[in-house]
Amino acid sequence: MGIILKTVCGNCGDTATFRVGNGIRDAELDRVLENYEEDEIEQIRKILAGSNGDSAWSVDRNMAYCAHCSSWKVLPVFYIETPEKAEKQVFFGKCKECGNQAEFCDTELILTRRKKIYCPKCGKMEISVEKCGRWD
Ligand SMILES: [Zn+2]
Ligand SMILES: [Zn+2]
Repeated sequence: MGIILKTVCGNCGDTATFRVGNGIRDAELDRVLENYEEDEIEQIRKILAGSNGDSAWSVDRNMAYCAHCSSWKVLPVFYIETPEKAEKQVFFGKCKECGNQAEFCDTELILTRRKKIYCPKCGKMEISVEKCGRWD
């Protein structure tokens, strides 16, 4: 199950909600890969097809700031674990509107205010973020 984050700007009052984490539909590889470009999809499928099928994948959705669109998005981070490599291979989803590489923010860091975020409307760093529900 994922969580719903609500942001409120203390300066201009702008509010927004973001569904982060992962949900039921994120168990379907084809659906998840819709967020990626063709060359990346090919690369991901190649890795998953290797390792005699012993690789595992997971996806986590995070808030990410697209500087090109000047707005916060929810974009996927795709992880693949293979027996051959100690470290997970990571693929960051790009902005759906413009194809830009957005700047990802860890949900836990945002919630614990170790990472402060800017308001896309007024540019002030006075956004408060809290959990307001769950989704699946
Ligand atoms: Zn604002
Ligand atoms: Zn964008």
